[in-house]
Amino acid sequence: MSNSHLAEPFKIKMIEPIRKISREERLKALQEAGYNPFLLKAKDIYIDLLTDSGTGAMSDRQWAGLMLGDESYAGSTNYYNLSEAVKDVFGYALTIPTHQGRGAEQILFPMLIKKGQHVLGNMHFDTTKAHIELAGGHARNFIADTAFDTATYDPFKGNFDVPKMERFIKEAGSENIAFILVTVTCNSAGGQPVSMENIKQVKECADRYGIRMFFDAARFAENAYFIKQREQGYANVCVADIIREMFSYGQGATVSAKKDGLVNIGGLLCFKEDEALFNECRTMTVPLEGFPTYGGLAGRDIECLARGIREVVDDDYLEYRISQVAYLGDRLREGGVQIQYPTGGHAVFVDAAKLLPHIPPEQFPAHALANELYIESAVRTVEVGSLLMGRDPETGKQQKSPMELLRLTIPRRTYTNNHMDVVADGLIKIKERSKEVRGVEFTSEPKILRHFTARFKQID
Ligand SMILES: *Cc1c(COP(=O)(O)O)cnc(C)c1O
Repeated sequence: MSNSHLAEPFKIKMIEPIRKISREERLKALQEAGYNPFLLKAKDIYIDLLTDSGTGAMSDRQWAGLMLGDESYAGSTNYYNLSEAVKDVFGYALTIPTHQGRGAEQILFPMLIKKGQHVLGNMHFDTTKAHIELAGGHARNFIADTAFDTATYDPFKGNFDVPKMERFIKEAGSENIAFILVTVTCNSAGGQPVSMENIKQVKECADRYGIRMFFDAARFAENAYFIKQREQGYANVCVADIIREMFSYGQGATVSAKKDGLVNIGGLLCFKEDEALFNECRTMTVPLEGFPTYGGLAGRDIECLARGIREVVDDDYLEYRISQVAYLGDRLREGGVQIQYPTGGHAVFVDAAKLLPHIPPEQFPAHALANELYIESAVRTVEVGSLLMGRDPETGKQQKSPMELLRLTIPRRTYTNNHMDVVADGLIKIKERSKEVRGVEFTSEPKILRHFTARFKQID
């Protein structure tokens, strides 16, 4: 392991001041927030690693694009710029902009899913699962088992277990499968990549049964960079070519542009060549998102997105990006903090069950750790474990989470490695006094999506 890291392939021409309030003020702020970092005010946070979604920094070229917004209701120039960019980057001819990723999901999924059908994925993202279920489908995950073993190195922990998926297709009958959705990188497994080999195998399996295959492509460029870095035969292929090969195996994609689109808001629904499906989706875009050339976005936002998806396809940027995440992961491992290894594209996941073995799952060890890291360093992070998992809707019992993880999500082009050091130092300090960290219990527990708004107290 090394602490060497790459300097940023950009210089900074605008800054946003941040400050660390005192420990006493942090204790008070957290108490007022009911020991739930989601309820903190952003002004009370020094380094915000809640999410990489819409939190990145735009480039000078994107900001310049903002001034070229064509706010025509229909046929905006920015729409045509976006369509050209999608054609060049993904090789997909047909584009609909949407307000964000879930906007694309809510248009596409009802077109593809008949009530009771299954949608097969490596591991569906939570809004994706929700939209599959709203359309009457069942979301099924077929991620390989290594994804749940934080300690063991596997270069492609986002891969499908294709034989397992194929057995399911045979049992369920291919007529009961709506489509296959390949999530790159696999967010829910920790931003872990899917290999080209695996994408090809999924595609071959889909073809054997006449099933359509789409991508959930929020982090398409980060996935492509991992292929370049880790997969045999791709070391000398540029990321742009890897992306085009990846997407050549699918029929279309839903994209949250708030991640690799390098914008603060936006999404995409695009298709390789299926004009019939594209036209049906355009029709439904009108009531759901807006006229299909603006899809819930201002022309200026569309221009920033057209520029963002071209910019992100840059080997130097991606090398810096992925190495910054790995740098934080390496610092933590050197400090004896167990993480999901290797680190993914957008986040480091700390194994809170290993760090805080004295806190049982029902007292939410990763959430307790998030609170402690805020008190220690004014850093905001988020639990991905039993709290997020929630209760069984039928029995009301807490569901068993396979892991208790704390997610440190790194916004793009926003923080430096000095900030990463603050985060690592804070967690390593907590590790040294880990026995003092106390679990939490609810003082109020909302019925749905409880983690966003629940309030807690610390257990004595
Ligand atoms: C963020 C995300 C979505 C949803 O996109 P929004 O822009 O938040 O609506 C869907 N899938 C994956 C994999 C994501 O990371």
